[in-house]
Amino acid sequence: MEEKTDFEKLRRLMVDYQIRSRGIKNKRVISALIKVPREEFVPDELKQSAYDDCPLPIGYGQTISQPYIVALMTELADPKAGMRVLEIGTGSGYQTAILCEIGCEVFSIERISEIAEKAENTLKKLGYNPRIFIGDGTAGLQDYQPYQAIIVTAGAPDIPEPLIEQLDEGGRIVIPVGDLFSQTLIRGIKNKGKLITENYGGCQFVPLKGKYGWK
Ligand code: SAM
Repeated sequence: MEEKTDFEKLRRLMVDYQIRSRGIKNKRVISALIKVPREEFVPDELKQSAYDDCPLPIGYGQTISQPYIVALMTELADPKAGMRVLEIGTGSGYQTAILCEIGCEVFSIERISEIAEKAENTLKKLGYNPRIFIGDGTAGLQDYQPYQAIIVTAGAPDIPEPLIEQLDEGGRIVIPVGDLFSQTLIRGIKNKGKLITENYGGCQFVPLKGKYGWK
């Protein structure tokens, strides 16, 4: 008889050995990571690898990010319950679920409709209710701005100007910026209308495509 995988145990091990051990401390982030079943966001044939310390393919040349990167980006954005958060690049919906679990009002944009639909179904099945939009997220989402946090989960050549405009005063944007092969994770905090940025090390993301991204 085939043994059933104990995903809850794998999830706790992932949080101890990949997240806490690397310095992530934010309690809201940790408890969301302990609750959200990452195995639901990966293709069936990769479920056994859902808690591995790496990104995984989700189809259409896209990926679900490494758990640590999701934790780091979320900690840098510092979301709290009730905050309005914009995510660019829904992908599998895992990062979206983490933000929903924290209690944020989440708006997420994905340019590939098949990916967006799959993510929306997974999120609904798990009881999360973010607003998912299909389109070019580099232009942001004018109708619901300002956002207290913006998380961009694809690598950009620069920080798209519309996203800076749609960020609330005191709000935080977390975005990988660089070339097509490697980027630096940047956190910007809006202060008197201007973005004050800090660097948080190297990372590798799929490209952010669109009007204010890669053509
Ligand atoms: N946050 C995701 C997760 O947890 O699975 C990972 C997202 S994946 C690394 C990046 C996603 O950004 C891809 O699904 C890609 O199609 C999407 N993307 C790239 N450019 C975009 C754009 N301009 N607008 C919206 N989505 C975009």
